[in-house]
Amino acid sequence: MKADRLSISAINQYLRCGNQYLLVKLHGYTPPGISLIQGKAVHASAEKNLRQKARSRVDLPVEELEQAAADNVEEQFHGQVVLTDEEQGRGLNVVKGEAKDFSTSLAKLHREKVAPTVQPLLFVDGGGHEQEGVEVKVVANIPRIGTSLVGVLDVKEESGGIRDLKTSGKKPSDDEAEKSGQLTMYAMLDAVHAKQTGIKRAETFTLDYLVRTPSGTLGTYRLDTQRDRVDMTAMVDRIAAVKEGIEKEIFLPTNPDNWFCSARFCGFYSTGLCRYVAKGARRPQS
Ligand code: SF4
Repeated sequence: MKADRLSISAINQYLRCGNQYLLVKLHGYTPPGISLIQGKAVHASAEKNLRQKARSRVDLPVEELEQAAADNVEEQFHGQVVLTDEEQGRGLNVVKGEAKDFSTSLAKLHREKVAPTVQPLLFVDGGGHEQEGVEVKVVANIPRIGTSLVGVLDVKEESGGIRDLKTSGKKPSDDEAEKSGQLTMYAMLDAVHAKQTGIKRAETFTLDYLVRTPSGTLGTYRLDTQRDRVDMTAMVDRIAAVKEGIEKEIFLPTNPDNWFCSARFCGFYSTGLCRYVAKGARRPQS
């Protein structure tokens, strides 16, 4: 299998579970569970706001962004949705309603607590076109290992920082940004983007966490970090190992006790497409 062009999400997926990476290659998609749908809806709402804010410098009204999140959930439910046994028991409409409630509450939280602290950059791309610093696609060639890294920078700020939005059901650990491989890959992409556009390289990389706990408590957490050449060199070595694993067709399944190897977080878990899920694990838990 060729691996001369790897996206950040593919690398993260391979490192999380090699078998999940293989199944996506074989089936062309990840069956979306509720967590993924909710996260996408919050991102769509934030993107709608920040893209226009690059020019207007003003945030959209809260209600408009809550509606954007709800509409996005509705749209995603028109496609294939994988529900757990417990969710099926409660019914599609109930689960959809809960997903809308979760997504709109976090879209509101983002608008009220995070968006006012973000001013996306406007920049001129290599083709001479003005672009918003939102969802910026970058390709970085890495000649040392003969592959290209492809990724999308969530938001590049006027002040120079890179921001990445996360949604979660629990508070992140304090060193989450420090350890994040995704932010290191963002730093690599940003370095290339800066060279292509003449914009100053980012000095700060930020994870903006929007949290809603199962009991409904809301919170935001901003985690800032920096990256240097040593971090990036280590990441290139890691990407080289991923490339070698894919090319040698080594697709190890993750450990079954990892939290994401579950019906809620892996779309292949309850579809029967993953041969590593034990039958016992699929039985309803009492
Ligand atoms: S169910 Fe578990 S082992 Fe199977 S693809 Fe998903 S994460 Fe990997």
